[in-house]
Amino acid sequence: MAKKLLLAGGGHAHMMLLARIGHLTEDGHEVTVVQPSDHHYYSGMGPGMLSGFYKADDIRFRTRFVVERQGGRFIKDKVIRIDTGNRSVELESGICEEFDILSCNTGSFVPFSAIEGRSSRIFGAKPIEGLLEAKKQIITGCNNPELSISVIGGGAAAAEIAGNVRQLATKNGCPGAKIKILAGNKLMKNSSPAIQRIVRKYFQKKNIEIDESGHVEQIENGNVIMKSGKTHTPDFIFLATGVQPSPLFAASNLPTGPDGGLQVNEYLQCSDHPEIFGGGDCICYAPQPLEKVGVYAVRQNPVLLHNVLAGLRGGNQIKFDPGGRFLAIFNLGGGYGALQKGPLCWGGKTAFIIKDYIDKKFMTQFQSLEKEDPDPS
Ligand SMILES: Cc1cc2nc3c(=O)[nH]c(=O)nc-3n(C[C@H](O)[C@H](O)[C@H](O)COP(=O)(O)OP(=O)(O)OC[C@H]3O[C@@H](n4cnc5c(N)ncnc54)[C@H](O)[C@@H]3O)c2cc1C
Repeated sequence: MAKKLLLAGGGHAHMMLLARIGHLTEDGHEVTVVQPSDHHYYSGMGPGMLSGFYKADDIRFRTRFVVERQGGRFIKDKVIRIDTGNRSVELESGICEEFDILSCNTGSFVPFSAIEGRSSRIFGAKPIEGLLEAKKQIITGCNNPELSISVIGGGAAAAEIAGNVRQLATKNGCPGAKIKILAGNKLMKNSSPAIQRIVRKYFQKKNIEIDESGHVEQIENGNVIMKSGKTHTPDFIFLATGVQPSPLFAASNLPTGPDGGLQVNEYLQCSDHPEIFGGGDCICYAPQPLEKVGVYAVRQNPVLLHNVLAGLRGGNQIKFDPGGRFLAIFNLGGGYGALQKGPLCWGGKTAFIIKDYIDKKFMTQFQSLEKEDPDPS
């Protein structure tokens, strides 16, 4: 029987489902994808786009094009509520869309409530498309040899942004730009001491200041106020203070984890509502906590594909296996990377070359849908 499949967000965990839309529509199913942008940006290459190493087209998928080309419907909008009773979603525009099966891959955002007053000079690490505007403004700001940029956050995203902003400023005639990471108590505290040393050494060479004197209390009219009372007034501010799943699930009274992510079981399925699936940063995987990294979203692809198809056609579900340690490579700008897999760590140009190769391979696999017959099998 023909069914209505609704995909909320076309993120990293939905790539294989997006590739199969043609098969589903041929089978008579109605497939609708809701996403606030016509494109989905690959976050792993976001900092590289900020530095100018990649162009926007290198790091994004033409979601609308791929969906419509295969006979699916694309709605440029945001899902704001899920009504399980009526099996429908409410969109920001007020439209309601019904579904038989819903799969959610709505990602995460950078929460930072302590901002007072408006400023167009503050950018979040996510959404990745926001880094495009940041890049444009910083290039203009490079006319000022005293340009100053603060990156708030102590994790890998903060380090990647700071390193790539340095590359951007240098390339645009502002090698003396003052770049500072406001890293809280310690930069990269969740990475190994070896990675911490690699990042510190590289940033020292690149004249990137690391402030570990405590957390930021508030941003008021563009002034960064530290808990210690110290104040910074940079020209541009990046927020890389960690991410949180979209508030959609809590607003819909669905079972959620501590951070508000949709709680799913080993089948990536909401136990109370088996017609709802989810993957990527927006879920709380009940069997074990998962880091919010694209690696897991990518690994969830075949499971979401299989289980959503089983939901539509009938058949058994398969379990998601998060797998073991994953390879993490941080792009620190200037063609330099820091690589970590278990106890193995190293920094250098080769690490970045490996990251660039892996990321481009992933992009090519799915960007090929924009050109060829959309049949991944
Ligand atoms: C700067 C930076 C660099 C990173 N680098 C790496 C890396 O190198 N390797 C790695 O493994 N991880 C990396 N990460 C982590 C990685 O970004 C996330 O884990 C990954 O993006 C999760 O993928 P996702 O598909 O769940 O979410 P997203 O990539 O955020 O995609 C979600 C999609 O859903 C859409 N959407 C959002 N809200 C709604 C809504 N309400 N309704 C409908 N659609 C919606 C969005 O527009 C987006 O297209 C990085 C993160 C940052 C911030």
